[in-house]
Amino acid sequence: MTGEQGEEDERVTVVDAHCDSLTRAVNSNRSLENNTLHWDIERALNYDGFVQVLAVFQDPGRGKPTFNNAMRYIQEAAGIEGRSSCFRICRTYNDIEDGLRNRKVCGILAVEGGEALEGREENLHAFFDAGVRIITLTWNYANELGDGAETQYNGGLTAFGRRIVKLMQEKGMIVDISHADVKTFEDCISISTKPVIASHSNARNICDHPRNLYDWQITEIKRTGGVVGINLYTEFINNSSKADIVSVIRHIEHICATAGEDTVGIGADFDGMERLPEKISGVEDLYVIFNELARLNYPDRTIEKIAGGNFLRVFRDVLAE
Ligand SMILES: [Zn+2]
Repeated sequence: MTGEQGEEDERVTVVDAHCDSLTRAVNSNRSLENNTLHWDIERALNYDGFVQVLAVFQDPGRGKPTFNNAMRYIQEAAGIEGRSSCFRICRTYNDIEDGLRNRKVCGILAVEGGEALEGREENLHAFFDAGVRIITLTWNYANELGDGAETQYNGGLTAFGRRIVKLMQEKGMIVDISHADVKTFEDCISISTKPVIASHSNARNICDHPRNLYDWQITEIKRTGGVVGINLYTEFINNSSKADIVSVIRHIEHICATAGEDTVGIGADFDGMERLPEKISGVEDLYVIFNELARLNYPDRTIEKIAGGNFLRVFRDVLAE
């Protein structure tokens, strides 16, 4: 964001609550530091501050996701941290503050799809020890934890799913209910004692898609103190292969109107899909959204919250010290 703040050091930290760029870079043998994908460390470094949730995603449609394979991506991320002087994997809120102070791109490790737990509690502890701080309970399909947006077999969250949600919140991990079906969502919210996020989902009232959230779901997320990350996939913006910035803003405005400005953030889903809105080619263009909000007379303070402040609040509230 460009502000006329004079010599005031007006810094805006951007948080993107979901991308598949780590997975995609590893799968295609590309560098996460500099590549032609939607996201790399070099481009994120151009912002005042940048926190990126890096999801480990194994497509259940291409073979059963495993714990060991998930760990392979996590080890790759650790290797990148070891090689790069401007990237840090953060496990605590303190790590994030420290990383931002030292002008590093802060990565937070996530696992997208509870399949990777293979139904074992001990794997959750192992993920935590390896630095994972967010788990998206399901992908689109039903798994050991509960039902996904596309398939319903369990009738909501399973006993194992309940145990994992409780354990995660006790350990200081963030529960992500993007991709979950409605009953799994309800079950999860009903036992949650910490803020729950939808890292990369939009408003169903604006775009009727099973991956998007009903107004009552957005309100429930707010009630937990959680945040909804706006997804930039055109299909989730307007059910088509084309979208513009105005249609992205429509989702932001709707979530603000439904649950207030403290409930919306960015969860771009970079490298998790192909079609982005006009004027956005990747992480380098996220500022276009913030500038449009400024043009619409959103106060700087509100834009700061949407750009990253709201997710930073969740990280502060939930991540273990
Ligand atoms: Zn996803």
